[in-house]
Amino acid sequence: MLKMFRFFTTICLIALTVSASAQQKIQAYKVYGKNYIKLSDAANFFGMRYSVSGSNFTLYSKWSNIKLKKDSRSATLNGTKVSLSFAPTSTNRVPMVSQSDFLKVLDPILRKDAISYKRTKRIVIDPGHGGKDQGAAGKRFKEKDVVFKIAVKLKNKLKSLGFDVYLTRYNDSTVSLDKRAQIAKNYKADLFLSLHTNAASAAATGVETYVLTPQNAPSTSGGSARKSATMANYYDKQSIRLGYEIQKSMISKTKARDRGVKHAQFVVLDKAPCPAALLELGFISNRYEESNLGNSSYQTKLVDGITNGILKYMRALAKK
Ligand SMILES: [Zn+2]
Repeated sequence: MLKMFRFFTTICLIALTVSASAQQKIQAYKVYGKNYIKLSDAANFFGMRYSVSGSNFTLYSKWSNIKLKKDSRSATLNGTKVSLSFAPTSTNRVPMVSQSDFLKVLDPILRKDAISYKRTKRIVIDPGHGGKDQGAAGKRFKEKDVVFKIAVKLKNKLKSLGFDVYLTRYNDSTVSLDKRAQIAKNYKADLFLSLHTNAASAAATGVETYVLTPQNAPSTSGGSARKSATMANYYDKQSIRLGYEIQKSMISKTKARDRGVKHAQFVVLDKAPCPAALLELGFISNRYEESNLGNSSYQTKLVDGITNGILKYMRALAKK
C-alpha cells in the first residue's frame, strides 16, 4: 500500500504502453498543484536504480545515467543537458519528478518503445532568415549566409544517404516563418530542421537545440504554461528524442559547449507538420565561434553531428 503523505493527493494512474500488448500503470500525485510521480516508480518503470544525495537525484543502470536536481530544471541525460519543464521536488523526503517530464522527456529518451514509428524519408531543412532579414551578425559573417552554407552541406550529405531533402529557401530570399512551415507541409516533410546561429554578449558560446514546448508546460526561458496544443505537439516524443540525439552528436563532433536541449514556442516548431527541431549552431557574436561557423571543416563537423543524430533518432524509432 502507498503511504499517503501530507502534501500528496493521489490523482490518477498514468497508463503507459510498454509494448504492443502490455500496459503499466504508475501512480501520480498532486504536489502543490502539479502532477508528480515518485522517482522510485520512474526507476522501477525504466528498470533502473536510483540514489539521492542531498539535492542530487540520480537514475542509473548499466546503460544510462540521469542526473536530476531538486528545485532545478536542468538535467543531464547520459552526459547531454536537457531542460525539464518542471523542477524535480521532494515531499516528506520522497524524491519526485513531474509527470510531464516523465512522459515527455525521460520516457522518449530512455525507452525505445515509448515512441511510435514514424517514417523518415523526406527531410526539410530551413536555413533561418534570408533576404531582408540577415539574422544575427558577427564581425565577419551574417547568420543568414552561414546557416545557408551549412544547410546546403547538410542537404548534400543527407541526399548521399538516400533521403529526399528540400530547403525552405534556395537563395538569399526573404521567407516568412509561416511560409517556411507551409513549405514543410507542401513537401510532406517527415522531419523538419531549422538552422540558426546565436547572438548574445561576446563571451557567450555553445550549441543548443530547441523542440516545441509541450502543452501545459512552460518554455525553458520561462513565462506561463503553453495553453493549447498544435498539430506539432502530436510529435512531442519524437521531437525530444530527435533534439536529444542531434544535440548529443553535434557536441560529440564539435566539442563545443553543451547548452542543452530546450523547449520553446518558435513559430516554425509550432507549425511544423512533423517531428521538428531548431538548432542554434553556435554564437556568431563570439569571435572564436564566428570563425568556426565560417570555417568549412567546422561546418562539416556540424553537418556530420546533425546527420549522426538523425540516424540515431531513426534507430530509436525503428519498427518493432
Ligand atoms: Zn536565427
